[in-house]
Amino acid sequence: MSAFNEETVLSVHHWTDRLFSFTTTRDMSLRFLNGHFTMIGLRVNGKPLLRAYSVASPNHQETLEFLSVKVQDGPLTSKLQHIQVGDRIIVGKKPTGTLVIDYLLPAKRLYLMSSGTGLAPFMSIIRDPATYEKFAEVVLVHGVREVAELAYRETITTELPKDEFLGEMVSAQLRYYPTVTREAFEHTGRITDLIESGKLFTDLGVPTINPVQDRVMICGSPGLLRDLKSMLELRGFKEGNTSTPGDFVIERAFVEQ
Ligand SMILES: Cc1cc2nc3c(=O)[nH]c(=O)nc-3n(C[C@H](O)[C@H](O)[C@H](O)COP(=O)(O)OP(=O)(O)OC[C@H]3O[C@@H](n4cnc5c(N)ncnc54)[C@H](O)[C@@H]3O)c2cc1C
Repeated sequence: MSAFNEETVLSVHHWTDRLFSFTTTRDMSLRFLNGHFTMIGLRVNGKPLLRAYSVASPNHQETLEFLSVKVQDGPLTSKLQHIQVGDRIIVGKKPTGTLVIDYLLPAKRLYLMSSGTGLAPFMSIIRDPATYEKFAEVVLVHGVREVAELAYRETITTELPKDEFLGEMVSAQLRYYPTVTREAFEHTGRITDLIESGKLFTDLGVPTINPVQDRVMICGSPGLLRDLKSMLELRGFKEGNTSTPGDFVIERAFVEQ
């Protein structure tokens, strides 16, 4: 039996010249936990060319959604960025990963801290009712360079609060904190600086992050992961994993070569 399903592209949206997202059909035998990633890709000269991708859609949805970088000389994304509706995509049958709410101990507040395409797994998690059952408050932090890279901003601020099933929970419990580093915007600066200076918490009107009330999921560049992990550990947070739940969990949004 093949380790992959072949899915059909249903829609493609280009956010910028470096970022796009797309939806595909979903073989309903594909099971995943919200926050998981899987291998996806294209057939190139008959052979599968695959990379790890977080599933951006929630597991109750009938279609799959992915948010992708465009690396101009990247083996996969130099081609993937040109996909059109009707094209075929390979999707691995074994999703996995650590960004799962079950791998966090219960607490009042959940921070979802992301940079760039690190937002993808959190688009799945904020569309899962179980997230709002486990945490009274969910804070989605998304750091990018330019305002146009704030993918799904409309979905988060306008569509989700009106959603038939999630709207009430999202309106009452989800806080969205987008921050931009290279342009003027309502929030600016790097996530690490916003935490260190306390500005993030002042802006949100919440106590400084602490392991009694808060849990954290991080998905971003290897540098962001390293810095945030040490900042949290200094504050007494313990890392969780697939076998032992903890105060924070991390996943790389990509690997630096
Ligand atoms: C657990 C995991 C989950 C991932 N989820 C996603 C996802 O949801 N969306 C996504 O676009 N990518 C994701 N990636 C990265 C992805 O696997 C590929 O690296 C990416 O699609 C580029 O593939 P490529 O073959 O074009 O270039 P590669 O040869 O894979 O990458 C070339 C270089 O481009 C840079 N790069 C790669 N991916 C990114 C990125 N996402 N953001 C910024 N710079 C990047 C890095 O410097 C990398 O060394 C994930 C990686 C891991 C390990």
